[in-house]
Amino acid sequence: MSRPRRDPRAERASRSVASATARPRFDLAATLSKSGRTRRDPRASFLAAQIAGHARLRIDRALRSTKAVVDPGLVETAGTEAKVRIVNEPAFTVLAVLGASNGRLSRFDRQILGAGRLLADAGEGSGAVVAVLPQAAEGLGEAGADRVLILTEDGLGDAAATTERFLALDGHVGPRNWLFAENGFGGDLARRLAVRLNQPILTDVEHLTARQAVRASHGGLREEAGPPPRLMTIQEDRVASYADRPCEARLLDAQTVSADTAEGAIIATEIIPGDPSSMSLVEADFVVSAGNGVSDFDAFGQLAAALRATPGASRVVCDAGLMPREAQVGASGTVLSADCYFALGIAGAPQHLQGIAGCEHVIAVNTDLHAAMVERAGLAIVQDAQKVMPALLHLLREGET
Ligand SMILES: Cc1cc2nc3c(=O)[nH]c(=O)nc-3n(C[C@H](O)[C@H](O)[C@H](O)COP(=O)(O)OP(=O)(O)OC[C@H]3O[C@@H](n4cnc5c(N)ncnc54)[C@H](O)[C@@H]3O)c2cc1C
Repeated sequence: MSRPRRDPRAERASRSVASATARPRFDLAATLSKSGRTRRDPRASFLAAQIAGHARLRIDRALRSTKAVVDPGLVETAGTEAKVRIVNEPAFTVLAVLGASNGRLSRFDRQILGAGRLLADAGEGSGAVVAVLPQAAEGLGEAGADRVLILTEDGLGDAAATTERFLALDGHVGPRNWLFAENGFGGDLARRLAVRLNQPILTDVEHLTARQAVRASHGGLREEAGPPPRLMTIQEDRVASYADRPCEARLLDAQTVSADTAEGAIIATEIIPGDPSSMSLVEADFVVSAGNGVSDFDAFGQLAAALRATPGASRVVCDAGLMPREAQVGASGTVLSADCYFALGIAGAPQHLQGIAGCEHVIAVNTDLHAAMVERAGLAIVQDAQKVMPALLHLLREGET
């Protein structure tokens, strides 16, 4: 493809402004590049970053000061450190579809929002990331959502009915991009929506920038790359979560996406969670595990049931026949994808830790302060597990009454 050659002299002449001095002057801020994007004016950025009230020149490179307004569409709340990013007039929108099971954002959900921010913050003006999810969840603003749209107000339907709502939403909002997680929830909906919209979809995206989406092809031997398409599914742990100032997470009216329900569609009014006690460890969100430091398995069973967690165990416990083999967590057992792992009396051998590498929150109960599991844990209780279990049960029962 041949591109027309640039004429730097003509471009320079077009930016020239009248000046009283002999030196030529150019208006860089008003100039649009070939792509139509407003050029960054380094002088204006420098002025915006200056902090007033100091004799010496002080520059706020992170633009944390109150006067920093980066984009006409982007307004920042005045005041202290933890300012909220507010995009009042988004130039475009990116819809991020999240599972948010049990009303909690998973690490994968946050990565999808991170991908949305990546696309929304690039390009002309500021885009808005709209989190689309089946139920309310906490921490959406911190995870990068400018707007929130909850689909459950009149019941989340089956995949076909949800696709119809997405179709209505597509017509109503006209998003630039749709982002889905490549998992059971997002992957299915993304493909259905692509068929209904009759638009191409790029699945299993492994690398995403504002200009490029990459995925493996030919069984991983080659790479397929191109500009990010409108519909994408993203693989887990491929895109970083958003880690900047919290966004507004303004709640949108779900009525905007009401759609005629297709005949024969199944409409569910609530999501019925699976029974954690019989759930496979692979699917469990919350696992409570017993190690060699647990001797009271009666209390352990009661605690797992009271916490609505799936019971697991270390290999030593399974070898001793105290727990079934399918409960074994670790390299030669099950590798978990749970959000939270509660380890009671487990040392944290490398083979066991391999099984919980993907768990975001780990809680350990161990008598040994120097145990590897205590080091791995975000929260540790250095105490006898036989004392901690009844104490927790007591607190849980108290909370119920
Ligand atoms: C090839 C291979 C594969 C393996 N695969 C796995 C695997 O998949 N999964 C797995 O788990 N292991 C596996 N193992 C075994 C692993 O190496 C460890 O032996 C095992 O994980 C130890 O289990 P544990 O931590 O429960 O027991 P221990 O090592 O005996 O640790 C018990 C812990 O409990 C603490 N403790 C003791 N009393 C109390 C109390 N009253 N209250 C609180 N804490 C207490 C101790 O301080 C200690 O930290 C594998 C080993 C091999 C060689």
